[in-house]
Amino acid sequence: MSQIEKLMRSHMVNFATYHGVDPSEELARKAGIKPEDVIRLNANENPYGPLDNVSAALSGLPLHLYPDPNQRKLRAALGEYTGQPVERIMAGAGGDEIIDLLMRLFIAPGQKVLDCEPTFGMYSFSARLAEAEIVSVPRNSTWDIDIPAMLEAIDDSARIVFLASPNNPTGNLLTERDARALLKTGVIVCVDETYYEFSGSTLCPLLDEYENLVILRSFSKWAGIAGLRVGYAIASSELIGHLMDIKQPYNINIAGEAAVLAALEHRGELLERAATLIEQRKRLEAVVDEFPGISYYPSEANFLLCRFERRTAEEAYVELAQRGIFVRRFPQTVLDSSLRISTGTPEQTDLLIDALRRVV
Ligand SMILES: *Cc1c(COP(=O)(O)O)cnc(C)c1O
Repeated sequence: MSQIEKLMRSHMVNFATYHGVDPSEELARKAGIKPEDVIRLNANENPYGPLDNVSAALSGLPLHLYPDPNQRKLRAALGEYTGQPVERIMAGAGGDEIIDLLMRLFIAPGQKVLDCEPTFGMYSFSARLAEAEIVSVPRNSTWDIDIPAMLEAIDDSARIVFLASPNNPTGNLLTERDARALLKTGVIVCVDETYYEFSGSTLCPLLDEYENLVILRSFSKWAGIAGLRVGYAIASSELIGHLMDIKQPYNINIAGEAAVLAALEHRGELLERAATLIEQRKRLEAVVDEFPGISYYPSEANFLLCRFERRTAEEAYVELAQRGIFVRRFPQTVLDSSLRISTGTPEQTDLLIDALRRVV
């Protein structure tokens, strides 16, 4: 063990990091193609990019000043958008920061964090950082929550349950019934609605009934500003008050704030783009229905989890990558024969369908 490692917290010495998506130049280099030929369908990003109105809002900002630690304008705009009181809302540097802050607020080393596999990897990543005990309860064959197993696992040391709705990467919604069953245990239940603008489905009405409910949202996927890192939490005013107390004072930067205000002002156009992306997912579903050797799981989000039957997902991944199309694979997991494909523009979908036809 090195001197540095001796000084480190021991659980971080051999820490398995979270591998985020590579930049397009890197993807191109690995596949031996040109960066401009890369089609990124691997991170559920918005292929349209930001609205012109959003880009325009980024020029001439007072970059020499610190942003508002109380997020006044941002929280007011989010309150108007969600129909929730400002005291119930806090913005974070992406949903990712809020996941991390929930760990800081609730988890002492050894306490339990629960999630339902397969699901978004940041829950267990942040839980491991917090030295939590992670209990991952497998989803059933329709990717729904195994409620009896969850209730069994929730004991005195359980603190937070993370449930994505729609779930990434499976695409299905959390049912209100399952949410209630878990909320009734009294532990913190974080319902991650990052894909809300695609699904149109929310459990926000339950906030009036349960003070242990946290709804997580993001501007990364539907609003096309993943690079600016803005997400938010909606929860009881008590819980939000504590989150506000422990967050870094300037967690939302000036550019992120301005972009979100502009995006909300022009939300109509963004929602139209979201609707186009959903249409593309449906196009892809119809084509996959016709192709032999490939099937998909029903999705309420801007991605489709496809299962390959006659060949390995790895082979399909490589063939798509050679054509410049990058998707998400899940080696050494229950999804090792599946690929998650983000929905692209109509033109990208044409190319994807063409490539898939050859692959299967
Ligand atoms: C992408 C994603 C997030 C994180 O988004 P941010 O960019 O950090 O806002 C959170 N939850 C799920 C399920 C996601 O897929």
